[in-house]
Amino acid sequence: MRGFAAAFALAVLWAMPGPAGAQPPQADPFGQTRADWNRPHQPFRVIGNVYYVGTAGVSAFLIRTPAGDILTDGGLPESAPLIEKNIQALGVKLSDIKILLNSHAHFDHAGGLAELKRATGARLYASAADKPFLETGRITFGPSVADPFPPVKVDQVVKDGETVSLGGATLTAHLTPGHTPGCTSWTLPVTEAGHTYQVMFFCSISVAGNPLTGTPAYPNIAQDYRNSFARLKDVHVDVFLAPHGAQFGMDAKLQRMKVGAANPFVDPEEFQHYLAAARKDYDAELARQFAAKGGYVWP
Ligand SMILES: [Zn+2]
Repeated sequence: MRGFAAAFALAVLWAMPGPAGAQPPQADPFGQTRADWNRPHQPFRVIGNVYYVGTAGVSAFLIRTPAGDILTDGGLPESAPLIEKNIQALGVKLSDIKILLNSHAHFDHAGGLAELKRATGARLYASAADKPFLETGRITFGPSVADPFPPVKVDQVVKDGETVSLGGATLTAHLTPGHTPGCTSWTLPVTEAGHTYQVMFFCSISVAGNPLTGTPAYPNIAQDYRNSFARLKDVHVDVFLAPHGAQFGMDAKLQRMKVGAANPFVDPEEFQHYLAAARKDYDAELARQFAAKGGYVWP
């Protein structure tokens, strides 16, 4: 059960559970349970040809093109029917989806992919490092080991900097390992009202309960986090989108969306602010884990 909470992509330490048998209902740092995450959410257009089709707590994005559509992330295993409904509510046939992408191989973002692949017939693209977790339906380290999900076959492996194109939309893969070894962020230039914006479908960079040292299943984890923080500092993002709506203030922005007004999802400052806060959380958690092991703390 710890997996659900710790997979939540915030570097907020989870409250220790009470004595066995006395735990309160599982909830994330905002008091949301897994059932809350899976509540239905209306689908909506975020910007240009990018639509939100996820649930209340876990994201899925649809990128529409004249040659078919691309879907990023599958939510929880139990989210797949809601995502399918949202796609259809936009007037899109499931068979129009040609490509499936995944931010990272945790149960709350990869859980619905097997069903979505079955229903759409789309090809799944993923990084080499996350492929084994997707294909076994289980990650081998961190709290999410407690949350297996239906395995799904990866059809094509994507490398860092590689692009995936369909119908004039070109996504670029940025491998940002740490949260998982194959954590993949995607960027997409999107045009709206004559302006082109860089949209970021962010993987995640939170610690989320991952052991940062002494993990045989992922010995380079701390190095990977540091490298990912360093490289993301140079990535310009106009529209920050992430695996959980709470990470990018989705509902508050949605409420501010008005015809004729500036799109509230455009905020060229937000991504770097988010990263700076995540880096602080990471450093604090690294120090805490070293101290807990009686070790010294790296600068
Ligand atoms: Zn995760």
